[in-house]
Amino acid sequence: MEAWILLALAPVFIVCVLWEAWYWRGKRAIYSLRDTLSNAALALMHQGADALAWLAVIGVYYWVYRYRWFDVPGNVWGIAALVIAQDFFYYWFHRASHRIRWMWASHVTHHSSQRLNLSTAFRQSITYPISGMWLFWLPLAWIGFAPTNIIAVVAINLGFQFFVHTQAIGKLGWLEYVFNTPTHHRVHHARNPGYIDRNYAGVLIVWDKLFGTFVDEDPAQPCEYGIVRQIHSHNPLLLTFHEWVAMFRDAARAKSLRARMVQLFGPPERAADAIGKD
Ligand SMILES: [Zn+2]
Ligand SMILES: [Zn+2]
Repeated sequence: MEAWILLALAPVFIVCVLWEAWYWRGKRAIYSLRDTLSNAALALMHQGADALAWLAVIGVYYWVYRYRWFDVPGNVWGIAALVIAQDFFYYWFHRASHRIRWMWASHVTHHSSQRLNLSTAFRQSITYPISGMWLFWLPLAWIGFAPTNIIAVVAINLGFQFFVHTQAIGKLGWLEYVFNTPTHHRVHHARNPGYIDRNYAGVLIVWDKLFGTFVDEDPAQPCEYGIVRQIHSHNPLLLTFHEWVAMFRDAARAKSLRARMVQLFGPPERAADAIGKD
């Protein structure tokens, strides 16, 4: 179901990428063929892994759904409530993905390009199921949202986010107050000290404002895209697994159980700081 929604939107995504590449032609080097091809390869790998992951965990969703608190109707109000509730859990999933190395090991793939364009949205990891992404939507089934609707809304949220990966769009008026927009998400992809680990929103930016992680894009501080420890590669397998390899290597070298736990589940920068100190 999820795969079908994103597959149905694929022609729209491709037309938008072509438009954006045309828009920047001869002006700024926003696109590179190798970067975009590697993003596309990662997207195809992710779609396949995601479909398999849903097959593996859907039974857990139906089991939890049996103990639901409410029977949320599948009408327009029920779906609207689901979109907002899922986006709330997306915020916490995304925040955890940046603050827990076990989850960052998957999410780093999305952030490891030094370019930012619409094709960056495709840049995803096949290891999200191992990081535990699917656990974050499980409370929705417990509340009483039907599992098939949850899967569809997860896809719609990701589909929406495609459109915020662009440098071609400036401020969008009142939409900036409510929604995650290109300017908010550019900040999220930047590694400038003032921008890092900010603007975790999926669809609604209100969660960042509520929970203190919002930063506005400052024209005096141009975004520098990428990650703190850059990986200069276009190889989809290396982009998928480099942080897992580094994490397990660091955990194996740690001298105590506590130090090992910091390497696996601590914040990425704390894990990096701890190397050689324990
Ligand atoms: Zn992120
Ligand atoms: Zn992004």
